Amino acid sequence: MVKPAKTLPPELLPWLDLLNDQHDEMLARTIELAEINSGSLNRDGVNRVLEKLLQLTSGLSKDHERIPVNPWSVVNDNGEIIQHPLGDALRIRKRPEAPLQVFLCGHMDTVFPKDSPFQKVVWLDDDTINGPGVTDLKGGILVMLKALEVLEQSPWAGQIGLEILFNPDEEIGSPGSAPLIEEAATRVHLGMIFEPCFPDGNLAGQRKGSGNFTLVSHGKAAHAGREHHLGRNAIRALCDFVAAMDDLNGQQPGITFNPGYIHGGGPTNIVPDRCIHKFNIRLEQPDDEQWCMQKLGEIIDSINQRDGIHLALHGGFTRKPKVLSHANKQLLTLAKNIGHELGIPLDIKPTGGCCDGNNLATAGIPNIDTLGVQGGAIHSDQEYLNVRSLVPRARLSAALLLSLAHASAQGDCFDWLKRKE
Ligand SMILES: [Zn+2]
Repeated sequence: MVKPAKTLPPELLPWLDLLNDQHDEMLARTIELAEINSGSLNRDGVNRVLEKLLQLTSGLSKDHERIPVNPWSVVNDNGEIIQHPLGDALRIRKRPEAPLQVFLCGHMDTVFPKDSPFQKVVWLDDDTINGPGVTDLKGGILVMLKALEVLEQSPWAGQIGLEILFNPDEEIGSPGSAPLIEEAATRVHLGMIFEPCFPDGNLAGQRKGSGNFTLVSHGKAAHAGREHHLGRNAIRALCDFVAAMDDLNGQQPGITFNPGYIHGGGPTNIVPDRCIHKFNIRLEQPDDEQWCMQKLGEIIDSINQRDGIHLALHGGFTRKPKVLSHANKQLLTLAKNIGHELGIPLDIKPTGGCCDGNNLATAGIPNIDTLGVQGGAIHSDQEYLNVRSLVPRARLSAALLLSLAHASAQGDCFDWLKRKE
């Protein structure tokens, strides 16, 4: 087993100190990016963020690829499948021949749509701004870029090859960019993803997997007064499904079913012939997916026995659980030790949330996915960023990169990183 350096070699510290006067710049760029609306379905807005990032990374590498991704298929309120076009992805590569290949990823989109009232950044107090995506994850983009600036200036940069992905669709489960993450996983040894850390500064370890589904219930319309007996009520069938599905909660450890949205029916003098239901499933073990699909199938089959009723299930599991491999534990320990050295106390905590770190772990690549900024209330209009976390978090990521590069230059072999499990 190789040292992940327990302590930072002292010769790295002067390079980290290059970051100490970067606060104002990081803050200004974060606010600039946050004030570009980039809701996942606001293609133009996401592409404006991409253009900004092209400028911000022009000095980093010449190898920029702007990559269109497939549109996002969803079932609309009428039960029809429609396609939402998405913004492009930006991939930047450098030194693909270097001994250690690192994947760095941050998403450009937010959960706030183009017409959201939440568009501007305001100060809450001396240390805190409130704004859309300031923490999830525009601040994290600056953490990544500043950490890379330090690596590039250092004498050890040649040890590390970079594959950077700015993706347009993380907040909807990365439907378009997942293939780019999988592709990167065939080329890299580890991943650094710049989702926010927890509000208390800790990092995420294992994560649950997630599936998003839409159930469309088809019945038969009829006059509620004259011919009620000829109708087949789609709402009733759907409600029976929801109740039976909700009863699955608690039957298997770590698996939850959440009915999240119902739409259907119309005038009350008509037996409704259509109703849709969107729901989410979370689970802890990759094998749990089979159990869920079997149970859902049993409920649907039994309701579909009824005359004139048809339930159709769309969607699936978009992210597998992130189970920590040996290498992933080593990597997290390295980050924790470096944090300790830098005076950034951090612990590793499991979470029910998921992100691109799930995708990368599923492809066998150890990664840390909460290297971004410290803040909270993400996905709400209360989202805030502790601006004093910008420089320390950039120091943490820079130190991680430098210590890996430094160890590689000393001839350490990184068995724990390069051994596929
Ligand atoms: Zn995020």
